[in-house]
Amino acid sequence: MNYATLTPAHIEKLTAIVGAGNIITEKEKMIDYSHDEFSQAEIAHFPDIVVKPHTTEEVSRIMKLASEQNLPVTPRGGATGLCGGCVPIYGGIVLSLEGLKKIVEIDTENVMAVAEAGVTLQELYQAIEAKGLYLPPHPGDENATVGGLVVCNAGGARAVKYGVIRNFVRGLEVVMPDGQVTMLGGKLIKSSSGYSLLHLMIGSEGTLGVVTKAIINLYPPPQAIYTLVVPFNSLGEAIKTVPAIIQGTIMPMAVEFLERETIAVTEDFLNRTWPTKDGSAYLMIILDGSSEDELMQQAEAIGQLCLDKGALDVFVADDKTKQHNILEIRSQTYEAMRGNMLEILDVTVPRASIADFVAAVHKASEEMGIWLPTYGHAADGNVHTHIMRARFDKGKWTETPGWQEKYEKARDRVHELGKEFGGIVSGEHGIGMVKKEYLTHFLDQVQLSLMRGIKQVFDPKGICNPGKVI
Ligand SMILES: Cc1cc2nc3c(=O)[nH]c(=O)nc-3n(C[C@H](O)[C@H](O)[C@H](O)COP(=O)(O)OP(=O)(O)OC[C@H]3O[C@@H](n4cnc5c(N)ncnc54)[C@H](O)[C@@H]3O)c2cc1C
Repeated sequence: MNYATLTPAHIEKLTAIVGAGNIITEKEKMIDYSHDEFSQAEIAHFPDIVVKPHTTEEVSRIMKLASEQNLPVTPRGGATGLCGGCVPIYGGIVLSLEGLKKIVEIDTENVMAVAEAGVTLQELYQAIEAKGLYLPPHPGDENATVGGLVVCNAGGARAVKYGVIRNFVRGLEVVMPDGQVTMLGGKLIKSSSGYSLLHLMIGSEGTLGVVTKAIINLYPPPQAIYTLVVPFNSLGEAIKTVPAIIQGTIMPMAVEFLERETIAVTEDFLNRTWPTKDGSAYLMIILDGSSEDELMQQAEAIGQLCLDKGALDVFVADDKTKQHNILEIRSQTYEAMRGNMLEILDVTVPRASIADFVAAVHKASEEMGIWLPTYGHAADGNVHTHIMRARFDKGKWTETPGWQEKYEKARDRVHELGKEFGGIVSGEHGIGMVKKEYLTHFLDQVQLSLMRGIKQVFDPKGICNPGKVI
Protein backbone atom coordinates (compact mmCIF):
# COMPACT_ATOMS: atom_id res chain seq x y z
CA MET A 1 0.00 0.00 0.00
CA ASN A 2 1.22 3.51 -0.76
CA TYR A 3 0.41 5.87 2.04
CA ALA A 4 1.48 9.46 2.59
CA THR A 5 4.26 10.14 5.07
CA LEU A 6 3.30 12.05 8.18
CA THR A 7 4.51 15.65 7.89
CA PRO A 8 4.85 18.51 10.41
CA ALA A 9 1.74 20.02 8.79
CA HIS A 10 -0.25 16.84 9.60
CA ILE A 11 1.02 16.91 13.19
CA GLU A 12 -0.08 20.51 13.49
CA LYS A 13 -3.57 19.68 12.24
CA LEU A 14 -3.89 16.65 14.53
CA THR A 15 -2.70 18.77 17.46
CA ALA A 16 -5.34 21.35 16.63
CA ILE A 17 -8.00 18.63 16.86
CA VAL A 18 -7.03 16.90 20.13
CA GLY A 19 -4.64 19.31 21.86
CA ALA A 20 -0.88 18.96 22.38
CA GLY A 21 -1.35 16.85 25.55
CA ASN A 22 -3.09 14.14 23.53
CA ILE A 23 -0.39 13.59 20.92
CA ILE A 24 2.72 11.43 21.21
CA THR A 25 5.52 11.63 18.66
CA GLU A 26 8.59 10.61 20.70
CA LYS A 27 9.63 7.05 19.87
CA GLU A 28 10.54 6.12 23.43
CA LYS A 29 7.02 7.03 24.57
CA MET A 30 5.42 4.97 21.80
CA ILE A 31 6.78 1.54 22.81
CA ASP A 32 3.46 0.50 24.37
CA TYR A 33 1.66 1.54 21.20
CA SER A 34 3.83 -0.65 18.95
CA HIS A 35 2.42 -4.03 20.03
CA ASP A 36 -0.44 -5.80 21.79
CA GLU A 37 -0.47 -8.88 24.05
CA PHE A 38 0.75 -11.22 21.30
CA SER A 39 3.93 -12.61 22.77
CA GLN A 40 6.37 -12.34 19.87
CA ALA A 41 8.37 -9.09 19.92
CA GLU A 42 8.95 -9.41 16.13
CA ILE A 43 5.43 -8.20 15.38
CA ALA A 44 6.06 -4.74 16.86
CA HIS A 45 5.82 -1.69 14.56
CA PHE A 46 6.04 1.91 15.65
CA PRO A 47 3.44 4.45 14.58
CA ASP A 48 4.53 7.89 13.44
CA ILE A 49 2.13 9.45 15.89
CA VAL A 50 -0.29 8.42 18.65
CA VAL A 51 -3.45 10.51 18.79
CA LYS A 52 -5.87 10.34 21.74
CA PRO A 53 -9.27 11.86 20.99
CA HIS A 54 -11.85 12.39 23.75
CA THR A 55 -15.02 12.81 21.69
CA THR A 56 -16.70 11.29 18.66
CA GLU A 57 -16.36 14.62 16.90
CA GLU A 58 -12.58 14.53 17.37
CA VAL A 59 -12.46 10.95 16.03
CA SER A 60 -14.48 12.09 13.03
CA ARG A 61 -12.14 15.01 12.30
CA ILE A 62 -9.07 12.77 12.61
CA MET A 63 -10.54 10.20 10.20
CA LYS A 64 -11.56 12.91 7.72
CA LEU A 65 -8.04 14.30 7.76
CA ALA A 66 -6.47 10.85 7.44
CA SER A 67 -8.76 9.99 4.54
CA GLU A 68 -8.05 13.25 2.70
CA GLN A 69 -4.30 12.95 3.31
CA ASN A 70 -4.06 9.17 2.73
CA LEU A 71 -2.63 8.41 6.17
CA PRO A 72 -3.07 4.91 7.65
CA VAL A 73 -4.98 4.76 10.95
CA THR A 74 -4.83 1.89 13.43
CA PRO A 75 -7.55 1.99 16.10
CA ARG A 76 -6.43 0.80 19.53
CA GLY A 77 -8.35 -0.12 22.66
CA GLY A 78 -6.77 -1.85 25.65
CA ALA A 79 -4.16 -3.69 23.50
CA THR A 80 -5.10 -6.98 25.18
CA GLY A 81 -5.57 -8.52 21.73
CA LEU A 82 -3.71 -11.75 20.96
CA CYS A 83 -3.17 -11.46 17.21
CA GLY A 84 -1.46 -8.11 16.61
CA GLY A 85 -4.73 -6.40 15.62
CA CYS A 86 -3.79 -2.94 16.91
CA VAL A 87 -0.19 -3.03 15.65
CA PRO A 88 0.37 -0.18 13.15
CA ILE A 89 2.12 -2.17 10.45
CA TYR A 90 2.21 0.76 8.03
CA GLY A 91 3.14 3.33 10.68
CA GLY A 92 0.96 6.43 10.43
CA ILE A 93 -1.57 7.19 13.16
CA VAL A 94 -2.38 5.02 16.14
CA LEU A 95 -5.84 6.19 17.15
CA SER A 96 -5.98 5.34 20.84
CA LEU A 97 -9.56 5.31 22.10
CA GLU A 98 -8.45 5.40 25.75
CA GLY A 99 -9.86 8.93 26.20
CA LEU A 100 -13.44 7.95 25.26
CA LYS A 101 -14.20 6.93 28.82
CA LYS A 102 -17.81 7.85 29.56
CA ILE A 103 -20.37 5.39 30.74
CA VAL A 104 -23.18 7.37 29.17
CA GLU A 105 -25.97 5.58 31.04
CA ILE A 106 -27.13 2.36 32.57
CA ASP A 107 -30.70 2.43 31.32
CA THR A 108 -32.63 0.35 33.85
CA GLU A 109 -35.91 0.66 31.93
CA ASN A 110 -34.55 -0.80 28.71
CA VAL A 111 -32.01 -2.89 30.67
CA MET A 112 -29.13 -1.69 28.53
CA ALA A 113 -25.77 0.02 29.04
CA VAL A 114 -24.49 2.80 26.81
CA ALA A 115 -20.73 3.20 27.01
CA GLU A 116 -17.98 4.89 25.04
CA ALA A 117 -15.36 2.82 23.27
CA GLY A 118 -12.50 3.33 25.74
CA VAL A 119 -14.40 2.14 28.84
CA THR A 120 -12.73 -1.03 30.12
CA LEU A 121 -14.61 -4.21 30.81
CA GLN A 122 -13.81 -3.84 34.50
CA GLU A 123 -15.26 -0.29 34.59
CA LEU A 124 -18.34 -1.46 32.70
CA TYR A 125 -18.98 -4.40 35.06
CA GLN A 126 -18.69 -2.07 38.08
CA ALA A 127 -21.19 0.42 36.67
CA ILE A 128 -23.63 -2.32 35.68
CA GLU A 129 -23.40 -4.13 39.02
CA ALA A 130 -23.95 -0.85 40.88
CA LYS A 131 -27.39 -0.71 39.20
CA GLY A 132 -28.18 -4.32 40.13
CA LEU A 133 -27.78 -5.60 36.59
CA TYR A 134 -25.47 -8.09 34.89
CA LEU A 135 -23.47 -8.52 31.70
CA PRO A 136 -23.01 -12.28 31.23
CA PRO A 137 -20.00 -12.56 28.84
CA HIS A 138 -16.61 -12.66 30.53
CA PRO A 139 -13.65 -12.49 28.14
CA GLY A 140 -10.54 -13.17 30.22
CA ASP A 141 -8.81 -9.77 30.41
CA GLU A 142 -10.83 -7.00 32.07
CA ASN A 143 -8.51 -4.32 30.67
CA ALA A 144 -10.06 -4.91 27.25
CA THR A 145 -12.23 -2.00 26.12
CA VAL A 146 -15.80 -1.81 24.90
CA GLY A 147 -14.61 -0.95 21.36
CA GLY A 148 -12.05 -3.78 21.25
CA LEU A 149 -14.49 -6.34 22.67
CA VAL A 150 -17.13 -5.45 20.10
CA VAL A 151 -14.90 -5.41 17.02
CA CYS A 152 -13.25 -8.69 18.06
CA ASN A 153 -16.62 -10.26 18.91
CA ALA A 154 -15.04 -11.43 22.14
CA GLY A 155 -16.25 -14.62 23.79
CA GLY A 156 -14.96 -16.14 27.00
CA ALA A 157 -16.05 -19.06 29.13
CA ARG A 158 -19.64 -17.99 29.79
CA ALA A 159 -20.60 -18.09 26.09
CA VAL A 160 -22.16 -21.56 26.45
CA LYS A 161 -25.40 -20.32 27.97
CA TYR A 162 -25.44 -16.63 27.02
CA GLY A 163 -23.46 -16.36 23.80
CA VAL A 164 -20.61 -14.05 22.78
CA ILE A 165 -20.47 -10.23 22.76
CA ARG A 166 -22.37 -10.14 19.45
CA ASN A 167 -25.45 -11.46 21.23
CA PHE A 168 -25.45 -8.41 23.53
CA VAL A 169 -24.60 -5.50 21.22
CA ARG A 170 -27.77 -3.66 20.18
CA GLY A 171 -26.34 -0.44 18.81
CA LEU A 172 -23.04 1.09 17.73
CA GLU A 173 -21.97 4.63 17.02
CA VAL A 174 -19.36 4.35 14.28
CA VAL A 175 -17.02 6.81 12.62
CA MET A 176 -16.53 5.68 9.04
CA PRO A 177 -13.03 5.77 7.51
CA ASP A 178 -13.92 9.03 5.70
CA GLY A 179 -15.06 10.69 8.94
CA GLN A 180 -18.85 10.35 8.57
CA VAL A 181 -20.62 9.41 11.81
CA THR A 182 -23.47 6.92 11.87
CA MET A 183 -25.57 5.10 14.47
CA LEU A 184 -26.18 1.42 13.70
CA GLY A 185 -29.07 -0.22 15.55
CA GLY A 186 -30.23 1.30 18.82
CA LYS A 187 -31.95 0.33 22.06
CA LEU A 188 -33.81 -2.31 20.12
CA ILE A 189 -34.26 -5.99 20.77
CA LYS A 190 -35.40 -6.83 17.26
CA SER A 191 -34.54 -5.51 13.81
CA SER A 192 -35.35 -6.92 10.38
CA SER A 193 -34.55 -3.75 8.51
CA GLY A 194 -32.20 -4.39 5.66
CA TYR A 195 -28.67 -5.73 5.78
CA SER A 196 -27.29 -5.71 9.31
CA LEU A 197 -24.42 -3.24 9.15
CA LEU A 198 -24.34 -3.51 12.94
CA HIS A 199 -23.36 -7.15 12.71
CA LEU A 200 -20.80 -6.46 9.98
CA MET A 201 -19.13 -3.97 12.29
CA ILE A 202 -19.08 -6.51 15.15
CA GLY A 203 -16.02 -8.66 14.49
CA SER A 204 -14.55 -6.25 11.91
CA GLU A 205 -11.35 -5.72 13.96
CA GLY A 206 -11.09 -2.02 13.20
CA THR A 207 -10.91 -2.56 9.43
CA LEU A 208 -14.33 -1.09 8.55
CA GLY A 209 -14.55 1.93 10.84
CA VAL A 210 -14.02 3.15 14.38
CA VAL A 211 -16.51 2.27 17.10
CA THR A 212 -17.01 5.22 19.44
CA LYS A 213 -20.01 4.09 21.51
CA ALA A 214 -21.93 0.87 22.12
CA ILE A 215 -25.39 0.01 23.39
CA ILE A 216 -25.23 -3.30 25.24
CA ASN A 217 -28.11 -5.47 26.40
CA LEU A 218 -28.02 -6.55 30.05
CA TYR A 219 -29.61 -9.23 32.22
CA PRO A 220 -30.75 -9.49 35.81
CA PRO A 221 -27.95 -11.06 37.84
CA PRO A 222 -28.11 -14.73 38.84
CA GLN A 223 -28.99 -15.19 42.50
CA ALA A 224 -26.49 -17.98 43.01
CA ILE A 225 -23.52 -19.57 41.25
CA TYR A 226 -21.93 -22.99 41.80
CA THR A 227 -18.69 -24.24 40.30
CA LEU A 228 -18.09 -27.96 39.82
CA VAL A 229 -14.70 -29.57 39.29
CA VAL A 230 -14.98 -33.05 37.84
CA PRO A 231 -11.88 -35.25 37.44
CA PHE A 232 -11.64 -37.99 34.78
CA ASN A 233 -8.98 -40.55 33.96
CA SER A 234 -8.56 -39.18 30.44
CA LEU A 235 -9.40 -36.09 28.44
CA GLY A 236 -11.37 -38.27 26.02
CA GLU A 237 -13.71 -39.37 28.81
CA ALA A 238 -14.07 -35.80 30.06
CA ILE A 239 -14.91 -34.37 26.65
CA LYS A 240 -17.27 -37.19 25.73
CA THR A 241 -19.39 -36.22 28.76
CA VAL A 242 -20.04 -32.74 27.34
CA PRO A 243 -22.68 -33.66 24.69
CA ALA A 244 -24.67 -35.46 27.41
CA ILE A 245 -24.56 -32.30 29.54
CA ILE A 246 -25.69 -29.95 26.82
CA GLN A 247 -28.40 -32.29 25.57
CA GLY A 248 -29.95 -32.20 29.03
CA THR A 249 -32.41 -29.74 30.50
CA ILE A 250 -29.78 -27.82 32.49
CA MET A 251 -27.65 -25.42 30.47
CA PRO A 252 -24.42 -24.54 32.34
CA MET A 253 -23.02 -21.04 32.07
CA ALA A 254 -19.56 -22.49 31.29
CA VAL A 255 -18.01 -25.89 30.62
CA GLU A 256 -14.21 -25.74 30.48
CA PHE A 257 -11.72 -28.57 30.02
CA LEU A 258 -8.22 -28.64 31.49
CA GLU A 259 -5.47 -31.20 31.87
CA ARG A 260 -3.39 -31.90 34.96
CA GLU A 261 -0.09 -30.83 33.41
CA THR A 262 -1.54 -27.39 32.59
CA ILE A 263 -3.02 -27.00 36.05
CA ALA A 264 0.34 -27.90 37.61
CA VAL A 265 1.91 -24.83 35.94
CA THR A 266 -0.73 -22.48 37.34
CA GLU A 267 -0.72 -24.08 40.81
CA ASP A 268 3.01 -23.44 40.92
CA PHE A 269 2.66 -19.89 39.54
CA LEU A 270 -0.08 -18.84 41.97
CA ASN A 271 0.89 -21.05 44.88
CA ARG A 272 -2.70 -22.29 45.02
CA THR A 273 -4.10 -25.81 44.93
CA TRP A 274 -6.69 -27.24 42.55
CA PRO A 275 -9.45 -29.07 44.50
CA THR A 276 -8.20 -32.53 43.49
CA LYS A 277 -5.09 -34.38 42.39
CA ASP A 278 -7.17 -37.30 41.06
CA GLY A 279 -7.38 -37.92 37.34
CA SER A 280 -5.50 -36.43 34.42
CA ALA A 281 -8.26 -34.27 32.93
CA TYR A 282 -11.04 -32.11 34.35
CA LEU A 283 -14.27 -30.45 33.45
CA MET A 284 -14.93 -27.18 35.22
CA ILE A 285 -18.68 -26.54 35.07
CA ILE A 286 -20.27 -23.27 36.19
CA LEU A 287 -23.98 -23.22 36.95
CA ASP A 288 -26.11 -20.18 37.66
CA GLY A 289 -29.68 -20.01 38.90
CA SER A 290 -32.35 -18.13 40.73
CA SER A 291 -31.91 -19.87 44.12
CA GLU A 292 -29.54 -22.06 46.13
CA ASP A 293 -32.13 -24.87 46.10
CA GLU A 294 -32.40 -24.79 42.34
CA LEU A 295 -28.61 -24.86 42.00
CA MET A 296 -28.22 -27.70 44.48
CA GLN A 297 -30.59 -29.82 42.38
CA GLN A 298 -28.79 -28.86 39.18
CA ALA A 299 -25.39 -29.66 40.67
CA GLU A 300 -26.63 -33.08 41.84
CA ALA A 301 -28.11 -33.90 38.44
CA ILE A 302 -25.01 -32.81 36.47
CA GLY A 303 -22.70 -34.47 39.00
CA GLN A 304 -24.58 -37.78 38.67
CA LEU A 305 -24.49 -37.55 34.89
CA CYS A 306 -20.70 -37.07 35.03
CA LEU A 307 -20.29 -40.02 37.41
CA ASP A 308 -22.39 -42.18 35.07
CA LYS A 309 -19.97 -41.22 32.27
CA GLY A 310 -16.92 -42.30 34.26
CA ALA A 311 -16.02 -39.26 36.40
CA LEU A 312 -13.85 -40.14 39.39
CA ASP A 313 -15.52 -37.66 41.73
CA VAL A 314 -17.42 -34.35 41.74
CA PHE A 315 -16.25 -31.34 43.76
CA VAL A 316 -18.85 -28.63 44.28
CA ALA A 317 -17.64 -25.14 45.18
CA ASP A 318 -20.74 -23.54 46.67
CA ASP A 319 -19.12 -20.53 48.34
CA LYS A 320 -17.30 -17.55 46.90
CA THR A 321 -13.86 -18.38 48.37
CA LYS A 322 -13.74 -21.88 46.90
CA GLN A 323 -15.10 -20.62 43.58
CA HIS A 324 -12.55 -17.83 43.48
CA ASN A 325 -9.70 -20.30 44.02
CA ILE A 326 -10.84 -22.48 41.11
CA LEU A 327 -11.54 -19.56 38.78
CA GLU A 328 -8.17 -17.98 39.57
CA ILE A 329 -6.38 -21.17 38.56
CA ARG A 330 -8.37 -21.39 35.31
CA SER A 331 -8.15 -17.72 34.42
CA GLN A 332 -4.47 -17.29 35.30
CA THR A 333 -3.38 -20.19 33.09
CA TYR A 334 -2.40 -17.75 30.34
CA GLU A 335 -0.30 -15.64 32.74
CA ALA A 336 1.34 -18.75 34.19
CA MET A 337 2.36 -19.95 30.72
CA ARG A 338 3.19 -16.51 29.31
CA GLY A 339 6.91 -16.35 30.14
CA ASN A 340 7.61 -19.57 28.23
CA MET A 341 4.96 -19.23 25.57
CA LEU A 342 5.41 -18.47 21.89
CA GLU A 343 1.75 -18.13 20.96
CA ILE A 344 -1.76 -19.01 22.05
CA LEU A 345 -3.96 -20.47 19.30
CA ASP A 346 -7.72 -20.20 19.12
CA VAL A 347 -8.95 -22.91 16.75
CA THR A 348 -12.62 -23.82 17.10
CA VAL A 349 -13.92 -27.22 16.05
CA PRO A 350 -17.39 -28.76 16.22
CA ARG A 351 -17.80 -29.56 19.90
CA ALA A 352 -18.28 -33.28 19.27
CA SER A 353 -14.78 -33.32 17.71
CA ILE A 354 -12.84 -31.70 20.56
CA ALA A 355 -11.58 -34.96 22.06
CA ASP A 356 -10.28 -36.26 18.72
CA PHE A 357 -8.82 -32.87 17.80
CA VAL A 358 -6.98 -32.55 21.12
CA ALA A 359 -5.73 -36.15 20.83
CA ALA A 360 -4.35 -35.28 17.37
CA VAL A 361 -2.68 -32.14 18.79
CA HIS A 362 -1.06 -34.25 21.54
CA LYS A 363 0.21 -36.70 18.90
CA ALA A 364 1.65 -33.82 16.86
CA SER A 365 3.27 -32.46 20.01
CA GLU A 366 5.02 -35.78 20.67
CA GLU A 367 6.08 -36.22 17.04
CA MET A 368 7.48 -32.69 16.79
CA GLY A 369 9.04 -32.61 20.25
CA ILE A 370 7.44 -29.32 21.28
CA TRP A 371 5.03 -28.87 24.18
CA LEU A 372 1.50 -27.90 23.09
CA PRO A 373 -0.61 -27.75 26.26
CA THR A 374 -4.24 -27.44 25.30
CA TYR A 375 -7.36 -26.43 27.21
CA GLY A 376 -10.45 -24.43 26.51
CA HIS A 377 -14.16 -24.00 26.26
CA ALA A 378 -15.46 -27.57 26.01
CA ALA A 379 -19.08 -26.79 25.29
CA ASP A 380 -18.43 -24.40 22.42
CA GLY A 381 -15.52 -26.19 20.74
CA ASN A 382 -13.08 -23.31 21.26
CA VAL A 383 -9.68 -24.83 21.98
CA HIS A 384 -6.65 -22.87 23.17
CA THR A 385 -3.38 -24.57 22.28
CA HIS A 386 -0.26 -22.90 23.64
CA ILE A 387 2.93 -23.29 21.63
CA MET A 388 5.69 -23.38 24.25
CA ARG A 389 9.41 -22.75 24.08
CA ALA A 390 9.93 -24.76 27.28
CA ARG A 391 8.22 -27.60 29.10
CA PHE A 392 7.13 -27.62 32.75
CA ASP A 393 7.78 -30.90 34.51
CA LYS A 394 8.28 -31.80 38.17
CA GLY A 395 8.21 -28.18 39.24
CA LYS A 396 10.67 -26.73 36.72
CA TRP A 397 10.87 -25.36 33.20
CA THR A 398 13.28 -26.90 30.67
CA GLU A 399 13.88 -25.18 27.32
CA THR A 400 12.92 -27.25 24.28
CA PRO A 401 15.92 -27.78 21.98
CA GLY A 402 15.29 -26.33 18.50
CA TRP A 403 12.01 -24.61 19.48
CA GLN A 404 12.74 -21.89 16.90
CA GLU A 405 12.39 -24.32 13.97
CA LYS A 406 9.58 -26.27 15.59
CA TYR A 407 7.39 -23.22 16.28
CA GLU A 408 6.19 -22.53 12.72
CA LYS A 409 5.70 -26.22 11.96
CA ALA A 410 3.63 -26.74 15.11
CA ARG A 411 1.55 -23.67 14.30
CA ASP A 412 0.85 -24.92 10.77
CA ARG A 413 0.07 -28.42 12.00
CA VAL A 414 -2.48 -27.35 14.63
CA HIS A 415 -4.29 -25.22 12.05
CA GLU A 416 -4.21 -28.08 9.51
CA LEU A 417 -5.76 -30.32 12.15
CA GLY A 418 -8.37 -27.65 12.89
CA LYS A 419 -9.33 -27.68 9.24
CA GLU A 420 -9.35 -31.48 9.05
CA PHE A 421 -11.77 -31.58 11.96
CA GLY A 422 -14.15 -29.10 10.30
CA GLY A 423 -13.06 -26.12 12.39
CA ILE A 424 -12.20 -22.46 11.94
CA VAL A 425 -9.03 -20.51 12.65
CA SER A 426 -10.35 -18.30 15.44
CA GLY A 427 -13.27 -18.63 17.82
CA GLU A 428 -12.77 -15.40 19.75
CA HIS A 429 -9.33 -13.78 19.44
CA GLY A 430 -9.74 -12.68 15.82
CA ILE A 431 -7.40 -12.65 12.84
CA GLY A 432 -5.42 -9.41 13.23
CA MET A 433 -2.07 -9.55 11.45
CA VAL A 434 -0.78 -12.92 12.65
CA LYS A 435 -3.58 -15.25 11.50
CA LYS A 436 -4.24 -13.70 8.09
CA GLU A 437 -2.57 -16.47 6.13
CA TYR A 438 -4.63 -19.11 7.95
CA LEU A 439 -7.92 -17.32 7.23
CA THR A 440 -7.29 -17.90 3.54
CA HIS A 441 -6.85 -21.64 4.22
CA PHE A 442 -10.14 -21.90 6.08
CA LEU A 443 -12.43 -19.78 3.88
CA ASP A 444 -13.24 -20.38 0.22
CA GLN A 445 -12.74 -17.89 -2.60
CA VAL A 446 -16.39 -16.85 -2.61
CA GLN A 447 -16.21 -15.74 1.02
CA LEU A 448 -12.81 -14.11 0.66
CA SER A 449 -13.88 -12.08 -2.34
CA LEU A 450 -17.10 -10.97 -0.60
CA MET A 451 -15.02 -9.87 2.38
CA ARG A 452 -12.65 -7.91 0.13
CA GLY A 453 -15.66 -6.30 -1.53
CA ILE A 454 -17.10 -5.28 1.85
CA LYS A 455 -13.77 -3.76 2.89
CA GLN A 456 -13.71 -1.81 -0.40
CA VAL A 457 -17.21 -0.42 0.16
CA PHE A 458 -16.56 0.66 3.76
CA ASP A 459 -12.99 1.85 3.30
CA PRO A 460 -12.26 2.50 -0.39
CA LYS A 461 -8.92 4.16 0.38
CA GLY A 462 -7.80 1.29 2.62
CA ILE A 463 -6.68 3.58 5.45
CA CYS A 464 -8.52 1.89 8.34
CA ASN A 465 -6.33 -0.67 10.11
CA PRO A 466 -4.54 -1.70 6.92
CA GLY A 467 -2.90 -5.11 6.64
CA LYS A 468 -5.33 -6.82 8.99
CA VAL A 469 -7.87 -9.63 8.56
CA ILE A 470 -8.22 -9.69 4.77
C1 LIG B 1 -5.09 -12.84 29.54
C2 LIG B 1 -6.00 -12.65 28.37
C3 LIG B 1 -7.19 -13.36 28.34
C4 LIG B 1 -8.05 -13.19 27.27
N1 LIG B 1 -9.22 -13.89 27.26
C5 LIG B 1 -10.08 -13.73 26.25
C6 LIG B 1 -11.32 -14.44 26.25
O1 LIG B 1 -11.61 -15.21 27.16
N2 LIG B 1 -12.14 -14.26 25.20
C7 LIG B 1 -11.85 -13.42 24.17
O2 LIG B 1 -12.64 -13.28 23.27
N3 LIG B 1 -10.68 -12.73 24.15
C8 LIG B 1 -9.81 -12.86 25.16
N4 LIG B 1 -8.62 -12.18 25.14
C9 LIG B 1 -8.28 -11.33 23.98
C10 LIG B 1 -8.64 -9.84 24.11
O3 LIG B 1 -8.86 -9.45 25.44
C11 LIG B 1 -9.86 -9.53 23.26
O4 LIG B 1 -9.55 -9.76 21.90
C12 LIG B 1 -10.39 -8.10 23.39
O5 LIG B 1 -11.60 -8.03 22.69
C13 LIG B 1 -9.44 -7.03 22.86
O6 LIG B 1 -9.90 -5.76 23.30
P1 LIG B 1 -8.90 -4.50 23.40
O7 LIG B 1 -9.68 -3.33 23.83
O8 LIG B 1 -7.74 -4.86 24.23
O9 LIG B 1 -8.51 -4.35 21.87
P2 LIG B 1 -7.09 -4.09 21.20
O10 LIG B 1 -6.18 -5.22 21.50
O11 LIG B 1 -6.64 -2.73 21.50
O12 LIG B 1 -7.51 -4.16 19.66
C14 LIG B 1 -8.05 -5.33 19.12
C15 LIG B 1 -8.58 -5.02 17.73
O13 LIG B 1 -9.69 -4.14 17.83
C16 LIG B 1 -9.46 -2.93 17.10
N5 LIG B 1 -10.08 -1.87 17.89
C17 LIG B 1 -9.92 -1.61 19.21
N6 LIG B 1 -10.75 -0.64 19.59
C18 LIG B 1 -11.46 -0.27 18.49
C19 LIG B 1 -12.48 0.67 18.25
N7 LIG B 1 -12.98 1.46 19.20
N8 LIG B 1 -12.99 0.77 16.99
C20 LIG B 1 -12.52 0.00 16.00
N9 LIG B 1 -11.55 -0.91 16.18
C21 LIG B 1 -11.03 -1.05 17.41
C22 LIG B 1 -7.97 -2.84 16.94
O14 LIG B 1 -7.62 -2.13 15.78
C23 LIG B 1 -7.59 -4.30 16.84
O15 LIG B 1 -7.78 -4.77 15.53
C24 LIG B 1 -7.72 -12.32 26.20
C25 LIG B 1 -6.52 -11.61 26.24
C26 LIG B 1 -5.67 -11.78 27.31
C27 LIG B 1 -4.39 -11.00 27.34
